[in-house]
Amino acid sequence: MGKRSRAERLVKVRGRRKRIALVAGAAAVVVLAIGGVLVGSALRTSAEPVSAEPETIMLAADASPTATRSALTSESVLPVEVPPLTGMPVDEATVLLEAVGLAVTRVGTPAGELTPGLVIDQSPEPGERLTAGSVVTLTFADPEAVVSTATPRPAGPVVCIDPGHQATADTDPEPVGPGAAETKAKVSGGGTGVTTGVREHELNLVISLKVKERLERYGVTVVMTRTTANVDISNSQRAQVANNARADLFLRIHADSSTNASVSGVSTLYPGGNDWVAPIRLRSLRAAGLIQREVLASTGATDRSLAERADIAGFNWATVPSVLVETGFLSNPAEDKKLAEEAYQDKIADGIARGVLRYLGVTE
Ligand SMILES: [Zn+2]
Repeated sequence: MGKRSRAERLVKVRGRRKRIALVAGAAAVVVLAIGGVLVGSALRTSAEPVSAEPETIMLAADASPTATRSALTSESVLPVEVPPLTGMPVDEATVLLEAVGLAVTRVGTPAGELTPGLVIDQSPEPGERLTAGSVVTLTFADPEAVVSTATPRPAGPVVCIDPGHQATADTDPEPVGPGAAETKAKVSGGGTGVTTGVREHELNLVISLKVKERLERYGVTVVMTRTTANVDISNSQRAQVANNARADLFLRIHADSSTNASVSGVSTLYPGGNDWVAPIRLRSLRAAGLIQREVLASTGATDRSLAERADIAGFNWATVPSVLVETGFLSNPAEDKKLAEEAYQDKIADGIARGVLRYLGVTE
């Protein structure tokens, strides 16, 4: 492809970006106006466990998803049209998506006969309309990707692992679910070890990578929402990474905190109690039960049981079965120390992986 045609395409891209930015701005005004009407209505009560994990409500309005959805189900809340990106250099496609307010996940696949660096597939498809901040997955021909004899799309199970939090919190609001007026911080800062000073986002990533390694041993394809600390990925975007990967399970890994330093143990959260997650509730519950049981068997930790949650953005945006494992309390001095030990991290990872494999029907 010649230099001139590339330049021409960039000019086209800039024009399109301006148009989409204008549409997005107008839609934001509509959303703000509707949000303003809803603020002041009753705060929803929920049967939450004592811990404040993992997402803190910033602004609560009537969260009835059916009410907010019917008020907002118009094209005005889906302001961004996904542009056609296949055949475009992946760097250029990334710039284009970010410029219109969409987030990007890039998945490299062996280049083979394809031109390295070009986008060969995208999800969602061109022409679909999304809310700002939605994730588009670009599959591109990656000369560094290992050539595999397998088919491009994995035949076996796929698990999306989300190591909770990140180095710096992003307190900008995002809707708690699709079309919701209620918002939460995009991603909170997470806890800190009361004795060790270990940050939760670091611990979550260490354990997540251990789980990844264990699952891959059994042929599971693992998609990570992040592999470093210095990212800015909201909880809804994390769910969309799992959705776009068509994951069999969205596995979120966190550690807990409480104002009561004596509280310790493991719990596993699963989505339930609202219309958004009704389609994934039962499968999520099954996965949560298997994982909780195996982590307890492997660690001997206190059983803080399963918890159904309607208020977690990372669940409400998910269209695939989802669980969130709270691996222990950073606010408990003894458990904090244990969580920092690699031998204990291995036990947690063994338990989580075993539970996931049982859920997937993979025999060890
Ligand atoms: Zn957390």
